[in-house]
Amino acid sequence: MKSAPFEYRRPASLAEALQILDQHGDDARPLAGGQSLIPLLAMRLAQPAMIVDLGRLPELRGIRRDGSEIAIGAMTTQAQLQRLPLPGILAAALPHVGHFQIRSRGTVGGSLAHMDPAAEWPALAVLLDAELELAATSGRRLLRAADFALGPMTSAIEPNELLVSIRLSGAEGPFGFLEVERRPGDFALVGAACHRGRLVAFATGAIAQRLTRCEALLREDGSPGDLRALAEAEIEATGDVHASAGYRRRVGAALVQRAVEAAA
Ligand SMILES: Cc1cc2nc3c(=O)[nH]c(=O)nc-3n(C[C@H](O)[C@H](O)[C@H](O)COP(=O)(O)OP(=O)(O)OC[C@H]3O[C@@H](n4cnc5c(N)ncnc54)[C@H](O)[C@@H]3O)c2cc1C
Repeated sequence: MKSAPFEYRRPASLAEALQILDQHGDDARPLAGGQSLIPLLAMRLAQPAMIVDLGRLPELRGIRRDGSEIAIGAMTTQAQLQRLPLPGILAAALPHVGHFQIRSRGTVGGSLAHMDPAAEWPALAVLLDAELELAATSGRRLLRAADFALGPMTSAIEPNELLVSIRLSGAEGPFGFLEVERRPGDFALVGAACHRGRLVAFATGAIAQRLTRCEALLREDGSPGDLRALAEAEIEATGDVHASAGYRRRVGAALVQRAVEAAA
């Protein structure tokens, strides 16, 4: 299929892009790497009247480091990021974000805005307690990852806003990051990650899920067997054509246990 007709704009600054979004509201849709949006357009699952190409916005590019803090511009591609020295957990997770071709076009901001329940970035953001910087013509706001992720394919970005950057603090240190995928580069069937005593399961349900009961058990030095049993109970799994909810709970619990062991 071909996409429905749309008007195409390629603003040269963030201010110009935000003005366009302000004028056109729900009718306009930002375009980043296009790895998710272009297929949606081609299948006519999205039919915006206007596409706003973010490819020329200098304000959304670049990576800034200040000690253990990293601010990653929303238009940074996964491949650009992979070429840098990174905290171990990011270096371990990035190769799982699709195939090389997808990582060379797909952006960190696009992954977060798209909010696929099986995607790595929304899970990393919750695990690392990231802050997301959003901009509108009226000003900027910062949201914690837990408040940014609202549901499957749904983030807190308003139609007149753009995600500008993701800010990570203290992402260094021991970690566990594991996922099961049918073939390398496929979306995860189920995944789990552990960092600094925080635990997240992803590709299990509607949204990357922080496992706070399991975290409490870790603080009490619970046994691996108890952790696995609790994880199986705590993971809120859904089933689909790729895997049943039971599979996701069982395999997810095993991954949680292994992620904790790796982080230790
Ligand atoms: C075959 C295949 C396999 C894949 N496998 C994986 C995988 O294993 N793991 C994974 O995480 N992803 C995977 N992806 C998805 C890929 O990572 C996409 O790149 C990503 O989901 C979207 O990023 P993008 O830059 O291409 O965004 P786009 O497709 O351009 O945009 C996606 C959505 O985000 C919005 N958006 C983009 N940028 C902004 C912004 N700055 N502010 C506000 N809204 C914005 C767009 O309007 C659109 O709604 C796969 C994709 C394909 C085609």
